[in-house]
Amino acid sequence: MKFGGTSVGKPDRMKHIASLLLNEPEPAVVVLSALSGTTNTLVEIGNNIAKGDRHSAQQVITKLEDYYQAFIRALFEKDETYNKAKSIVAEHFDFLNIILKISFSEALSKDILAQGELLSTKIFSTYLQEIGADYALLPALEFMSIDENEEPQIGSIRTKLTHLLEQHKDKKILVTQGYICRNARGEVDNLKRGGSDYTASLVAAAINASVCEIWTDIDGMHNNDPRIVDKTVPVEQLSFEEAAELAYFGAKILHPASIWPAQQYKIPVRLLNTMQPEAKGTLITQEAASTGVKAVAAKDNIIAIKIKSGRMLLAYGFLRKIFEVFEKYKTPIDMITTSEVAMSLTIDTHDHLDQIIKELEALGSVEVDENQTIISVVGDHINETPEIIKKLFGSLRNTPIRMVSYGGSKHNISLLVAAEHKNQLLQQLNHGMFGL
Ligand code: ASP
Ligand code: MG
Repeated sequence: MKFGGTSVGKPDRMKHIASLLLNEPEPAVVVLSALSGTTNTLVEIGNNIAKGDRHSAQQVITKLEDYYQAFIRALFEKDETYNKAKSIVAEHFDFLNIILKISFSEALSKDILAQGELLSTKIFSTYLQEIGADYALLPALEFMSIDENEEPQIGSIRTKLTHLLEQHKDKKILVTQGYICRNARGEVDNLKRGGSDYTASLVAAAINASVCEIWTDIDGMHNNDPRIVDKTVPVEQLSFEEAAELAYFGAKILHPASIWPAQQYKIPVRLLNTMQPEAKGTLITQEAASTGVKAVAAKDNIIAIKIKSGRMLLAYGFLRKIFEVFEKYKTPIDMITTSEVAMSLTIDTHDHLDQIIKELEALGSVEVDENQTIISVVGDHINETPEIIKKLFGSLRNTPIRMVSYGGSKHNISLLVAAEHKNQLLQQLNHGMFGL
């Protein structure tokens, strides 16, 4: 069971999670994120230290510490557990204050980032102690690890975690940190932003859990972006493949990397709402329960690149040369379309854009459109249903479309549009595809 930052971000919410766990019939490993906002603040502290602005870093640390002190004052009722929480908070902020005096390094910034999950899990565990729950705290740094390619080492995670669980056989609630891990050098590291979902999926795979539950504050994955579109509904069931497309193409509810461990080890994933624990949420399993379109998602900040060259006509090996440029700069490509003399593709990062463009210019003329959005229509066997294509293109009305990707998989049709058309197009698709 994984609970995100907002699910533990207020003392009342934390109490609510504890009561959910007390009602849980089966023993559960409970993966927690940092309290909402904390990781962003820790990033800010790291950035200030990296810039040499220790004064600002100090101010941010002090403000964060005040926040945690107020948090535990509101959470605890008994002196014993309150004092314990006070010394936990003091210990982690002493650490941050010491770091201020050390010269900055990449490894140090990872240590800073780890404080959020360490604090949330220790505070939560102390609260479980206060209410007399049967719990143990399993330190993620003792079992969660990545190799030199930053890939999780599932075999070793399994061995170490199984061993830890053996030691706490009698406990029903086993709390651990999301996001943090050790790297190949044995240093504290992390699974990248939003990585607590990934932790949950890895843990579920490693212990062969009956289910991996991701608890947030919305009732599952919706058929469209509820922040933009008036009327959306939760999707009851998805296959892993559909969920992967949706998670990658912008459905914020689940981290894209967290799909594969559960998929590979055949652990069903359930997306649930802490505010409405009895709601069905979304169940993700190997197979899709029904065909047809399930949802639409959008991914922002996309850059489209067009490479045009007469030499592409009837040539072979040309696409390889283009792809090699992206490989060299470790930049993943999302959408691709080709014509006989040109190809368009999209990337989602500016990191090496200038170098990439420069090298592509040796292959042909290059045009770049920034501020694009990928709108992805996801479902099962949607390419085999002419009615769906008709509805999809009928929904576009006058919206200018920069690229279309169709036929790459059975699960997805993607459209690229300028960001300014996104909201309206999502609304049109909601109407046209779902009748909502
Ligand atoms: N606390 C981390 C973050 O904000 C990990 C997570 O919440 O999933 O990115
Ligand atoms: Mg998250």
